[in-house]
Amino acid sequence: MTALNDTRALPSRYLAETHEVVNVSCELADYNMYAQDTALREAVQREGAAWANADLQRFGQLTGAAEYLEQGALANKHLPELETHDRFGNRIDLVKFHPAYHRLMDTAITHGLHSSPWTDPRPGAHVARAAGNYLHTQAEAGHGCPITMTFAAIPTLRLQPDLAAQWAPKITARVYDPRNVPVAQKVGVTIGMAMTEKQGGSDVRANTTQAYPVGQGGPGQMYELVGHKYFVSAPMCDAFLVLAQTAKGLSCFLLPRWRPDGSKNPMQVLRLKKKMGNASNASSETELRGALAWMVGEEGRGVRNIIEMVAMTRFDCMVGSSAGMRMALSQALHHCAHRSAFGKRLVEQPLMQNVLADLALESEAAMVLSLRMARALDERADSRHEDLLVRLMTAVGKYWICKRTPQHAYEAMECIGGSGVMEDSMFPRLFRESPVNAIWEGSGNVQCLDVLRAMAKEPEVVQAFFDELRPTQGQNPHLDAQVRALAQEIKEPAGMEYRARHVVERMALAMQASLLLRVAPDFVADAFCASRLDGQGSFHYGALPRGAQVQAIIERATPRVG
Ligand SMILES: Cc1cc2nc3c(=O)[nH]c(=O)nc-3n(C[C@H](O)[C@H](O)[C@H](O)COP(=O)(O)OP(=O)(O)OC[C@H]3O[C@@H](n4cnc5c(N)ncnc54)[C@H](O)[C@@H]3O)c2cc1C
Repeated sequence: MTALNDTRALPSRYLAETHEVVNVSCELADYNMYAQDTALREAVQREGAAWANADLQRFGQLTGAAEYLEQGALANKHLPELETHDRFGNRIDLVKFHPAYHRLMDTAITHGLHSSPWTDPRPGAHVARAAGNYLHTQAEAGHGCPITMTFAAIPTLRLQPDLAAQWAPKITARVYDPRNVPVAQKVGVTIGMAMTEKQGGSDVRANTTQAYPVGQGGPGQMYELVGHKYFVSAPMCDAFLVLAQTAKGLSCFLLPRWRPDGSKNPMQVLRLKKKMGNASNASSETELRGALAWMVGEEGRGVRNIIEMVAMTRFDCMVGSSAGMRMALSQALHHCAHRSAFGKRLVEQPLMQNVLADLALESEAAMVLSLRMARALDERADSRHEDLLVRLMTAVGKYWICKRTPQHAYEAMECIGGSGVMEDSMFPRLFRESPVNAIWEGSGNVQCLDVLRAMAKEPEVVQAFFDELRPTQGQNPHLDAQVRALAQEIKEPAGMEYRARHVVERMALAMQASLLLRVAPDFVADAFCASRLDGQGSFHYGALPRGAQVQAIIERATPRVG
């Protein structure tokens, strides 16, 4: 009799392969994310950043490398951890990150994604940065939060020139220094933002944090802040722009994590949030226990002052969500080119072509609007029209693009089938990230109300909006009808707040359609207009009407590996 542990005598069929692995896809990796994105390259050229082409080519090679994409996965798998005290009991408020997170931060900062338009403000600077951000976010989104906040802090800080002179060189330096040490010891620093409190996030005027002047008080002067902040992302930033109440109302402050004497400023991190997405980025709850801070800008004008920062973060939300869509689309296109079912590759199945082409239209429209707004940022100082566009279309675009992303992420996941749901694919991460941009930095309704506010306070924004659409007048009957209907809707003030989403959605679609008619191939623009403006839109992706040139749309959008 054969011993139970003696397998030598077993017939070889028991050790045979169970099956051959065929008809499966492969990683979308080791590709040049920029070179393989035709629409993005065209946009960079068109919107004034052709000079950045060579840099973006190199950057796209980096962000699409298998080894680099792996950093994104690692930074989300190994979550940040908070240590409130050291082993001796001293308060340290230290958040530890995986090395992959630091690598992503370092790349972003050394490539100037946190500062290039401020340090090198040439024509196309915002466009080039947005394109770089679009690429880097595709590798990983969470680290983008402190990168964006650091970038966005500059316009608010400039309202207080003495503070700006002291801080801006370190904020804009291309040096990432994650050490938990006072600012004086650092060449490069990062900046966060603390507005939201338990009782009020959108309605920041409900903030109860109090600021007490240490001396005479006023702009640029030192205060002590007492209160709580319910959401503070990236709590390892070196300083934060914070809202707090003074005798004259809500005011804006710059609060460093360390006092000038080298002691810890009592901004204490209570715990990290348990987030469903945006996992690599630590978000915290904090208490300010007499933390020193310096007033930024006019007292009592805190919202007005910090809104300079918020406008920039909202712009980055548009870019970030567009990037999320592009990655989801790229993954879906790549998979469907490598997987067959019922005798044909998925990308050849007519119904899948409809889905993929529809996802591609959404992605391109989002990117085109985002980069058009980047040019508006570049030109706003010299052009009233561009300035008005920034005021109106940042809110419109933030609302629309960020809101379109979760459905897009889910539908792209479904293109993969069951394996798209698995944690070792990129889709769970893309999906969990997808609602975040829509909610923070002013949730959907808040954006719509901001559009109404802009139209009421500066009616010229409405004219700028219609002026921007004028070049495509008469080119597409669906768009012409939409523009006429919008003009009527906007003229009718009754019930405007109730109708705000309806109006803003149509503004976004009209702008995207008009831009695509101007800049994209006819097969993209025509399919976009026919599917989004004919009033019979489907609730789901994949219902493009007859005649859409789906193969051409797919071909344009598909990234090739190698
Ligand atoms: C991952 C993450 C990180 C964050 N990091 C930070 C941070 O670093 N710093 C910071 O300050 N904040 C941060 N926030 C907070 C975020 O900005 C707020 O959650 C957001 O502004 C909404 O505020 P709230 O949560 O208090 O919701 P609420 O203000 O209570 O809003 C709830 C809902 O009501 C809607 N609503 C509000 N007012 C109106 C109205 N008048 N009419 C119709 N609808 C309305 C909103 O659109 C929203 O849908 C973060 C949030 C998240 C999710």
